[in-house]
Amino acid sequence: MSFSSIYGQEGPIAVLRGAIGKNRVPHAFLFYGAEGIGKRTTALVFAKALNCEKGGADSCDGCTSCRKIDSGNHPDILIIEPEGQFIKVADIKGLQERMRFRPLEGARRVVIIDDAERMNITSANSLLKTLEEPSPTNVFVLVSSRPHLLPLTIPSRCHRLRFNPVQRDVIAAFLEKEIALFPDWIIWHTLISPRLALRAAESQAVGKGAYRVRLVLENTGWLPTYVTKKAVEKKVSRGVICEIELPPGASLRTGKPRQEFAELEGRAYKSVLPEGYEGDTDDRLKVEWVIHAPQGGTVKLTARHGRAGVVRVELPLEKKAR
Ligand SMILES: [Zn+2]
Repeated sequence: MSFSSIYGQEGPIAVLRGAIGKNRVPHAFLFYGAEGIGKRTTALVFAKALNCEKGGADSCDGCTSCRKIDSGNHPDILIIEPEGQFIKVADIKGLQERMRFRPLEGARRVVIIDDAERMNITSANSLLKTLEEPSPTNVFVLVSSRPHLLPLTIPSRCHRLRFNPVQRDVIAAFLEKEIALFPDWIIWHTLISPRLALRAAESQAVGKGAYRVRLVLENTGWLPTYVTKKAVEKKVSRGVICEIELPPGASLRTGKPRQEFAELEGRAYKSVLPEGYEGDTDDRLKVEWVIHAPQGGTVKLTARHGRAGVVRVELPLEKKAR
């Protein structure tokens, strides 16, 4: 993946290419705009372009550095993202120490903080200190679809780049060029896009104050959640993210508060199953948590995917055991 293969974000990409070309790269960026329009992908390509051995203003995708970043093995490219509701304080605090050293292999160390608004106040203050001591070899890219939740002091220290929703004609152009199909087919393609849907959500008492919470999601669209198999290989496509929010006084016994799952197939490639089959399928996802909630209450479940949408459920904890 290179800048030239990202569609619909010509504005921010021109700024990034210009900065690399003139060798005047700001030490911190904030990429903001709606979810699922290429902010994180652009951040990764930017990291590649900054370190590419070919030395242009784009990534070549062929040199050792580009390939290492693609496979997630480059020691100077750090991606920080939430674990559970928030970004871990330790992840941000660890940065300050790390920034003192020169990059290990590349020309520039690039720190990408995805869903940056999920830093708590301690993390935000710690990051602020790091941003106040810029170094020419470190570049920060904060990515956020809800930048208004960031403390104002953070965006004010970043070069802000707005990512626009991708226009329909751009999507059509992309499909026409990349897939070389007819316009009618392209419209059809858009109509049959992946759609995340709730199949079941239930809670069940499994002991004193303990509940099993189960969420079953499916992709009711005809297309899979990934764009192409190539997108999965290049890791530019992300799986379904599921989150659980607990009632006051409750804790998780098993399962994680936030987890990324695999991609879901669409109905187009789904195997034919017997009527009433309830097992796992490629287009269905089952998530289970066991929680301890002595005071009962309600859990909030959220599942989201950049292309397939969001599902939110509020689930009262069922008292009677089944
Ligand atoms: Zn390269």
